[in-house]
Amino acid sequence: MASSLDVKNIRKDFPALHQEIYGKPLVYFDNAATTQKPRQVIERMIKYYEEENCNIHRGVHYLSQKATEAFENARRNIQQFINAKETHEIIFTKGTTDSVNLVKTSFGEEFLQAGDEVIVSVAEHHSNFVPWQVLSEKKNIPLRIIPVNDKGELIFEEFEKLLNEKTKLLAITHTSNTLGSIVDIKKFIDKAHEHDVVVLIDGAQAVMHKQLDVQELDCDFYCFSGHKMYAPMGGGILYGKEKLLEKMPPFQYGGEMVDQVTIKGTSFNELPFKFEAGTPNVEAILGLDEAIKYLQNIGFDNIAKYEKRLLDYATEKLLKIEGLRILGTSENKASLISFLIGDIHPYDAGTIIDKMGIAVRTGHHCAQPVLDHFEVPGTIRASMVFYNTFEEIDRLVEAIMQVKKMFE
Ligand code: PMP
Repeated sequence: MASSLDVKNIRKDFPALHQEIYGKPLVYFDNAATTQKPRQVIERMIKYYEEENCNIHRGVHYLSQKATEAFENARRNIQQFINAKETHEIIFTKGTTDSVNLVKTSFGEEFLQAGDEVIVSVAEHHSNFVPWQVLSEKKNIPLRIIPVNDKGELIFEEFEKLLNEKTKLLAITHTSNTLGSIVDIKKFIDKAHEHDVVVLIDGAQAVMHKQLDVQELDCDFYCFSGHKMYAPMGGGILYGKEKLLEKMPPFQYGGEMVDQVTIKGTSFNELPFKFEAGTPNVEAILGLDEAIKYLQNIGFDNIAKYEKRLLDYATEKLLKIEGLRILGTSENKASLISFLIGDIHPYDAGTIIDKMGIAVRTGHHCAQPVLDHFEVPGTIRASMVFYNTFEEIDRLVEAIMQVKKMFE
């Protein structure tokens, strides 16, 4: 594989990028919400429905075995992709939100007691904030919050001050979806482990940008969604260390998660099936398997280098616009920029930018606590990935100039 990206050719793989919106070529800068899907992933799903469609596990007939094999093969590939020690440490879920809720119910509700403490950060997506807040209220478990500094970075020293003998769980993001800050999670994990604190990492905005190694990180749980990494919606991962998953009770009941059921009682299946009740989203997982192959073929180093160039270029261009303010200015940032244009409401700006064929996200990005911290109701967010171009950034700059003109 060449060391730099052939973006022109890569774009040919993404049918959705070649559309006109309001008569203008689409610029898709809403990748942090969901990425577009390459042809290879779409074709993998079609192949499943045309040649393999069948409910998995237990069936003895040809199609059922073929679908089961493909599904379990995907699990092995994902295990290798994130370097988990065991295949059964990979639990298929609907996505990050589902994964966090699984841990909240099966670990939090089961093993945390009144008076224990949970630490999250103010920069969490609601999906890794609300479950812990609800648990906190339900079981009287104080929720401690790591603040961010002016650059939008989690303050490690403040985290250290929050840790005490009552702390049982740390649940933090790997990368903020609103500020772009990449957290040095290894440092947080090691410190938490010094105090025997279990660590959950929300990797929803991290896995598509950089190669992950859960053994090296030594996190206890790691969650991500397929749809933010070029795979279909409705399929995601919970990675958990075997010793924790083994002792956790099931999350939901019925289907593949049972071993024996009699009218007297039920025994449960072994890992990972214990946590996979009901018919799973087979096509989403096969699509995720294909998306990972696609990313590995491009190469994560190439992706990281190119996305950094996009980020630097966009930051420089945007900062030249008078009155434009960027929220999240960490040196270690994913390729997304949250910004405000003077006093113009993000929704007004977003609506005008949309009319120019450019998809940006506006609003609170499901991260209201951190926007409250910065005392803003919302931002405009442009999130870029390896199929975006420098010309597209120029078009965003032009659109922002147009917004300014209309409001001045
Ligand atoms: N965490 C983060 C950091 C996110 O960006 C998102 C999606 N915006 C989620 C969690 C939730 O992911 P999903 O909706 O796929 O469950």
